[in-house]
Amino acid sequence: MELTKSDKELLVDLEKKLQKASNTFLGYPVSKDFNYDEINPFLKYPINNLGDPFEDGTYKVQTHQMEKEVIAFFAKAFRANPKDYWGYVTNGGSESNLYGLYLARELYPKAMVYYSESTHYSIRKNIHLLNIPSIIIKSQDNGEMDYEDFENTVRMNRHKPVIVLATFGTTMKEAKDDVSKIKAILKNLAVQDHYIHCDAALSGSFGPFMSPRMPFDFQDGADSISISGHKFIGSPIPTGVLVAKRSNRDRIAKGISYIGSLDTTITGSRNGHSPLILWYALKTLGTKGLKERFEHSLEVAQYCEKQLNNIGVKAWRNPNAITVVFPKTSKSIKNKWQLATEDDISHVICMPNVTKSQIDLFIEDMKNSKELVEEDIDFDVAFL
Ligand SMILES: *Cc1c(COP(=O)(O)O)cnc(C)c1O
Repeated sequence: MELTKSDKELLVDLEKKLQKASNTFLGYPVSKDFNYDEINPFLKYPINNLGDPFEDGTYKVQTHQMEKEVIAFFAKAFRANPKDYWGYVTNGGSESNLYGLYLARELYPKAMVYYSESTHYSIRKNIHLLNIPSIIIKSQDNGEMDYEDFENTVRMNRHKPVIVLATFGTTMKEAKDDVSKIKAILKNLAVQDHYIHCDAALSGSFGPFMSPRMPFDFQDGADSISISGHKFIGSPIPTGVLVAKRSNRDRIAKGISYIGSLDTTITGSRNGHSPLILWYALKTLGTKGLKERFEHSLEVAQYCEKQLNNIGVKAWRNPNAITVVFPKTSKSIKNKWQLATEDDISHVICMPNVTKSQIDLFIEDMKNSKELVEEDIDFDVAFL
């Protein structure tokens, strides 16, 4: 059966809508400047990466080789021990974080999880799913963990193993928790049993290129790190990466004869196209290309911050952030540019596809609507 005329019209319409919506978004951390035409032919195959990427199973329509290369790339970028790393390509940062926490809980079933109030919303759900007791740590004004509150809170519970969920690039302000500081505090309190998972969904893909470096990786003290693949790198399908220590995953691996592999991943069937997409991106960009993308983003973010300041908007950025934070904008701007807004702030995320001329258009809109902002805010408050 063929699509009817009206179904075909729906498709045409959908494409138009998607095209329009993706031309004006500045508020969500998703890159759009990718071209994966060369791997389109692989959509013909029922690829499924079932099982552990490092253990060959019975099902052969898979892309484990590419998946292993993607993991190796990030293991190196995150300075993992070359003899002690493992990982897999997930369906996104949330699954990668769930895995990091799962691994941590299996190692320390009696632990307490600590995470800051700026932590991504999906983490609470993950902790709930895993049924681990947790404590929320205060954030500083810039969104970074309040280390003093962390130290005091751990001190009161030091009889329990500690799992820390650190964030490298918080959702609203792109603040980066300092993993080496967290590690030093745990050492100082003589907490032997601890695990640090670094949620680097947003900033992990460009973390290695920051200058000066900011501490977040395996050598800084992380036990596992997650990133989202569809954010900075860009992908038509949501995807993510989890890198952990192989020695830790070995302690939870169970063999499954039905698939002839180890059941070490969260889901059974696994997307085999996204490892191919990430592999292709890494091969064509290389470390050099990723670094250039970051430098471009940083330059556009600096420009955006400066232009906003020039028209009297109090915009600011965290160190090495490609996210520009400013007081909440009017509803019309928020809707047109799809700006994420929380409490009293909005942000623009200068992903690699964002250009200075796009920022100019945005600044023009901001200039024109400045008077309206106050009214809008009053409106919001009245209806809370
Ligand atoms: C985006 C993001 C997540 C969730 O990742 P998904 O890929 O959307 O599942 C988690 N944590 C942080 C800090 C993020 O920016």
